[in-house]
Amino acid sequence: MDKILFNDSIVQRDKLIDIEDRGYQFGDGIYEVIGVYDGNFFMLDEHLERLERSAKEIRLSFPYQKQQLKERLEKLVTVNQLKEGVIYLQITRGEAERWHHFPSDDTKPNLVAYTKLEETLMEEENNGAAAVLTEDIRWLRCDIKTLNLLPNVLAKQKAVEHDAVEAIFYRGDIITEASASNVFIVKNGEVYTHPANNYILNGITRRKVLALCMDLGIKVNEETYSVQDLLTADEVFVTATKLDVVPIIRVDQQSIGTGYPGKITQKIVEAFRASVQELVRSS
Ligand SMILES: *Cc1c(COP(=O)(O)O)cnc(C)c1O
Repeated sequence: MDKILFNDSIVQRDKLIDIEDRGYQFGDGIYEVIGVYDGNFFMLDEHLERLERSAKEIRLSFPYQKQQLKERLEKLVTVNQLKEGVIYLQITRGEAERWHHFPSDDTKPNLVAYTKLEETLMEEENNGAAAVLTEDIRWLRCDIKTLNLLPNVLAKQKAVEHDAVEAIFYRGDIITEASASNVFIVKNGEVYTHPANNYILNGITRRKVLALCMDLGIKVNEETYSVQDLLTADEVFVTATKLDVVPIIRVDQQSIGTGYPGKITQKIVEAFRASVQELVRSS
């Protein structure tokens, strides 16, 4: 785990970033977390496409050939011999004297990527986990995966302090998503999740789950739903890279449905595992 990708080369992890890197000072940058299963990337193209989109939305130049970046990330996984885990990748607007406005055009972005061991949360996936509710105090461009994560940090800390796996955000009366995952509910055999607009980050795992539901013949409604809808849902689950699909069996003090992972959620968990198995087998 001792090598990192720094801009265009794989180097030792002791590389130092300048104190005037804009990521450090302003959170002025973007990131991705990409799942690795038995040494294979899960939906790498989708992650790199979203990265490129995030760059465009914050007007950060993206001076990388996606194919080349892909090859370097694959090399990083190989040299670090990562089996189960993630690649964390971030790009900042680079190093420059601290002024809020963009630095001069010759300032180069800083790209850093490293590998991290991470196991799938089997226990939570099998038995379900708790979540807490918290107000969504984020900005109105939650569709961009930016380094500005203070509201998410505060929300997740609240979850941890309540032995919960996630903090679910509500904006007004509407459930948006969770601090680092997307939220789904099941009502009368149909799945509901917030539409992919500026109020949520459109997860790659979310997209995979939508496709799996289609295959399974489960109707999905990309529609908003209320806090009350969540609390009275038959089933609730959250999705994110490496979290995969985790059933939520309690929200604050309220049991969800039977208080155990629901039938539809379990089907989706199974289908997701099968798609990971398929990836591993086909490699
Ligand atoms: C990254 C993230 C997700 C999950 O996205 P995946 O691509 O599935 O990992 C959900 N919500 C937020 C706020 C995120 O930052």
